[in-house]
Amino acid sequence: MVSGSNASVAPTTSTPAVAERLRITEIFHSIQGEADAIGWRTVFVRLTGCPLRCVWCDTEYSFYGGDWQAIDDILAEVATHGAKHVCVTGGEPLAQKRCLILLQRLCDAGYDVSLETSGALDVSVVDPRVRKVMDLKAPDSGESKRNLWSNLDHLLPHDQVKIVIASRADYEWARGVVAEHAIDRRCMVLFSPVHGKVQPRELAEWIIEDKLPVRFQLQLHKLLWNDAPGH
Ligand code: SF4
Repeated sequence: MVSGSNASVAPTTSTPAVAERLRITEIFHSIQGEADAIGWRTVFVRLTGCPLRCVWCDTEYSFYGGDWQAIDDILAEVATHGAKHVCVTGGEPLAQKRCLILLQRLCDAGYDVSLETSGALDVSVVDPRVRKVMDLKAPDSGESKRNLWSNLDHLLPHDQVKIVIASRADYEWARGVVAEHAIDRRCMVLFSPVHGKVQPRELAEWIIEDKLPVRFQLQLHKLLWNDAPGH
């Protein structure tokens, strides 16, 4: 204990800032295969981990492992590819809280930033410059109980809601929630078939028949690279 008025005060030493880090599965340069930015050359930053387990998930390799990387290093690696578009994906990127910092830093650096998120975690905290591509999980995913419906109130006109459809029952559910929540009046709505479960033409014909205010999409990267990691 230091006592007395003449006690010398030790100079304060500033602790070096601990680098803000994220667990990363992969960073790669490809063509955006879906949503509004489809076809653009894009750098993908895939964060590790997801609290959901959709039965048709095609990125299970991102659930575990990955490497810790400082956000400064992630930005430096993104910059090497010289792309305007950056997509932060997973897994569920928002499961790592520092994802919010990464998103903000990417926007500050001038990129056109999108975020692919499951719809199960709060999106109200995401930088409004980011275009959110938010899933709503239909029943056949096995995870529809995880939909955080309050997220719909935090969608901006540049965001997109994506519903992946594995059956006619999923389609009818999706048609119902779009109408009930008037989602198409908030932002673009995308319906996408699960490969091998619903024929793309079948889904397209249902949408036409019902005159739905939604956008049909196929995943371009599946057509180009059969969804191999790194593409
Ligand atoms: S939320 Fe996405 S990453 Fe997570 S299990 Fe579902 S499809 Fe896979």
